[in-house]
Amino acid sequence: MKNTISQALKISEVSESKIGQVDFENLNFGKIFTDHMFVCDYVNGEWQTPEIVPYGPLTMEPSARVFHYGQAVFEGMKAYKDDNGDTFLFRPDENFKRINISAERLAIPEFPEDYFFEGLNALLKLDNEWIKPGYGNSLYIRPFVIATQASVSASEADEYKFMIICSPAQSYYSGDVSVLVAEKFSRSANGGFGYAKAAGNYAGQFYPTKLAQEQGYQQVIWTDANTHEYMEEAGTMNVFFRVNDTLLTAPVSDRILDGVTRKSLITIAEKEGIKVDVRPVKVSEIVEAAKNGSLKEVFGAGTAAVVSPVKAFGYKGEHYEIEKQENSYASYFKKALMDIQYNKAEDTFSWRYKV
Ligand SMILES: *Cc1c(COP(=O)(O)O)cnc(C)c1O
Repeated sequence: MKNTISQALKISEVSESKIGQVDFENLNFGKIFTDHMFVCDYVNGEWQTPEIVPYGPLTMEPSARVFHYGQAVFEGMKAYKDDNGDTFLFRPDENFKRINISAERLAIPEFPEDYFFEGLNALLKLDNEWIKPGYGNSLYIRPFVIATQASVSASEADEYKFMIICSPAQSYYSGDVSVLVAEKFSRSANGGFGYAKAAGNYAGQFYPTKLAQEQGYQQVIWTDANTHEYMEEAGTMNVFFRVNDTLLTAPVSDRILDGVTRKSLITIAEKEGIKVDVRPVKVSEIVEAAKNGSLKEVFGAGTAAVVSPVKAFGYKGEHYEIEKQENSYASYFKKALMDIQYNKAEDTFSWRYKV
């Protein structure tokens, strides 16, 4: 191992990369991780010297609070490589801000911006070979924070670990999805932490999603917990409805995550003169639009799939198919965003960040 200390960052490199064992043509999303990871511990009221170390298992006390009370938040972002071999991130400042917004809600101490960007840049340079060029290839980046303090007492911890791990990803076409509109279960509630990217928000979705899958739907569109009358989001993606030529999407709130893809699509739509109505979207108006043929498209928006078209939805025992559009907004937005991410289009909004 080679050890170097650059300013506040300590780097221990692997002696041999495992990249040769990876089949980049057949990647299973989120299963393979790069050679290195970023780690920074919070103890004695302070974030300690951050480190980059070989990717590998952690050792923790079974009493570590994250295991008992789920005090954990995370982010999801990607690095893209253009044909010249330059690496870019897409609006990483948004992810950095959001992990601290999530952290605050979970009573986790704020992480310093310079540690984040210095660590992320160094990690991406070390594991640069793992970012493959080519439209659709990317490196999925997963920053996260967990409560490591060894104690099962039910209160916020005073020791944490901030980490970044990276997994090579391919774009693959998983097919258009069918979704079930929630009638009984809720993902989040007023005053809760639906707006935070918190581990617990996901844990609570798996069971209702499994039930939806037994009915032949891949995902759930969550509705408001009070009345179940309004469309909210898909749990890993924000949702858009195209009624005639207008896009509808719910406003973000304390129940809905403020997605970077969502807000980028709204900005692009506005520039292109596509009308976007950000307002509460009634389930009944979408059902009505599906019946009278004015519902042209439904799609999810999130970092993982960029834009994910929905081909059908289920609600109150009825199944509604959405006819495929010739000039779909979904494919237009997907290309527009990817062209910016892969440095193929002008960066009108200054969203690209060169590593
Ligand atoms: C991550 C996430 C999204 C999508 O956010 P992006 O910043 O676009 O990736 C949407 N909803 C939830 C609940 C999420 O966790």
